[in-house]
Amino acid sequence: MTTLTQDQKQDLLRRGFSRRNFGRFAAMIAGGAALPFYNESALAQGLSAMRGNIPPDAVRINANENPLGPCPEAAEAIYAIVKKGGRYLYEETFGFTDLQAELEGLKKNYVLPFAGSSAPLHQAVMAFTSPSKPLVMGEPGYEAADRAARFVGASVIKVPLTKDTYAHDVKAMVKATPDAGCYYICTPNNPTGTLTGRADIEWLLANKPAGSILLLDEAYLHLSGAPAASDLVAADKDIIILRTFSKLYGMAGLRAGAAFARPDLLAKLQGYGAGALPVTGMVAATASLKVSKTLVPERREYIKSVREDVCDFLTAKKIPFVPSVSNKIMIDTGRPGKEVFDALLKEKVVIGRTWPAWPTHVRVSIGTREEMAKFKTAFAKVMAV
Ligand code: PLP
Repeated sequence: MTTLTQDQKQDLLRRGFSRRNFGRFAAMIAGGAALPFYNESALAQGLSAMRGNIPPDAVRINANENPLGPCPEAAEAIYAIVKKGGRYLYEETFGFTDLQAELEGLKKNYVLPFAGSSAPLHQAVMAFTSPSKPLVMGEPGYEAADRAARFVGASVIKVPLTKDTYAHDVKAMVKATPDAGCYYICTPNNPTGTLTGRADIEWLLANKPAGSILLLDEAYLHLSGAPAASDLVAADKDIIILRTFSKLYGMAGLRAGAAFARPDLLAKLQGYGAGALPVTGMVAATASLKVSKTLVPERREYIKSVREDVCDFLTAKKIPFVPSVSNKIMIDTGRPGKEVFDALLKEKVVIGRTWPAWPTHVRVSIGTREEMAKFKTAFAKVMAV
């Protein structure tokens, strides 16, 4: 790990930090140059690599976005608020958190609003891991947690998903280290689109070391129809749940999300973030929640029917894939995934990345029916099937 210079140490002491903080700052400085925090679209290739590399008319099924975009009610709410945007408009943020809390059966102070869920994901990992408190996560899993842990000098322990259902192997995760600071579980998982069941979540909470937390990422939950775990938050367990409006609600570019947890856990996240949230995202999220009873099942059905059509195509072509309940599929191409990515890019179809642990799989997000028709044609050509 980087050691701080005398000047840096003096500066920290002058600013009121104690010597105990030196390790954490050394880790941040070491990580800082190489570790800007990304979300899904930038993880695909890195921000600068994305500039100008994607033809404007390409099919973009690389970042688990929702091609349907925000619902009409969300768009209307944005138009209505724009002219008032000269104010910070905190009331709109309270309106969002209050409604979100009510719908989840949580007290108001158990919900913290964010512009998406990347920020609370990073902040929770930074708050609960350290050089002596590792992050434990599934493999393959969403890389943002890994980056945040490394940023503060924590080690990252990756435990393979179970072989039969591709769930998080919670027993192996707990066995992996007695010192974990944070267990990160994404359900349905990114990239596999597979669920980790309620019994496993409860088992992990009952058997993890004291002082650690379960960071449960429910970014894709609505796409699966599986029950939420908010009642575990209401029961004051050591759990932080993350939600985003970037997926089913189609608001990736508009930015809204939330963390649900006991107030003492949420307080630890607040030290890493500050300021007002974009009111456009807040009012759009509130409007989406107001119609969620019908919007969620409608959109889930649409994505599911397109996904099933792609799965039928893959089955007919005898191409193996992981059965998914989400808006992406891991497809085993039988050759280096990057080769397939590059070949599809030439056909103007941009798919997702390959995970080092599964080098022949590519992740394909579910677009519209029309987009997936183009994908199928291009994929059949590239795979010569
Ligand atoms: N968590 C998971 C598992 C994701 O896949 C993503 C993005 O794709 C995020 C969190 C963060 O997304 P956002 O910041 O748009 O909410």
